[in-house]
Amino acid sequence: MTVKERFSQLQKKINDVCESCNRDPSSVQIVAVTKYVSMETTAEALDAGLLHIGENRTEGAVQKWNGLGDRGIWHFIGSLQSRKVKEITGKFEYLHSLDRLSLAKELDKRLEDGQVMKCFVQVNVSGEQSKSGLTPGEVIPFINDLADYPRIVIVGLMTMAPFYDDPELTRPIFRKLREIRDSVQELELAHAPCKELSMGMSNDYHVAIEEGATFIRIGSALVGKE
Ligand SMILES: *Cc1c(COP(=O)(O)O)cnc(C)c1O
Repeated sequence: MTVKERFSQLQKKINDVCESCNRDPSSVQIVAVTKYVSMETTAEALDAGLLHIGENRTEGAVQKWNGLGDRGIWHFIGSLQSRKVKEITGKFEYLHSLDRLSLAKELDKRLEDGQVMKCFVQVNVSGEQSKSGLTPGEVIPFINDLADYPRIVIVGLMTMAPFYDDPELTRPIFRKLREIRDSVQELELAHAPCKELSMGMSNDYHVAIEEGATFIRIGSALVGKE
């Protein structure tokens, strides 16, 4: 199947899920995760009409941005070492993995006047050892501290659920992220509008949408694996 065919299949499924839970499908953005695929396949995704491209390692990310940067909106979704921040600033518009003040500080330093990084705070809702991110209890104090960094805007929260054969088991994790998002929104912080939820991948995006996802990050089910 071509990327275009998989995209149209995915869009149909998103429409169905949205209809069943009374959501407007245009409130769900697809981030095409191209970390497993070549520059050619990434170009194919852009040709098919996908706009948001997600990468998780700086090498692949910068290489693809150099070739295709002006054609999409770029999302850095993997963990980011502070010393590599300067490779993505000015190129990537979104960072889905903000998880420490030292990283916010480095971003704020490397961004230029007039530039901001739209960040998701990554939350380890499940508590799995292998996952990065803050504990739920750390989120609000962390976001309060980010007021010191004027080039960081907290657009939302991100989580990765554990892989389960039964995707239904991810539901409490996504629901919890939405509850934390709601409690951040209630604070009405100027630097943290925090409207978005980045959650759901190839195997569990339908559950994530039902629980309020506004950005789903889809790799294998959309662009495949090469
Ligand atoms: C790889 C990756 C995805 C996409 O995973 P698929 O299961 O292939 O859809 C989403 N989010 C993050 C953070 C990833 O690293």
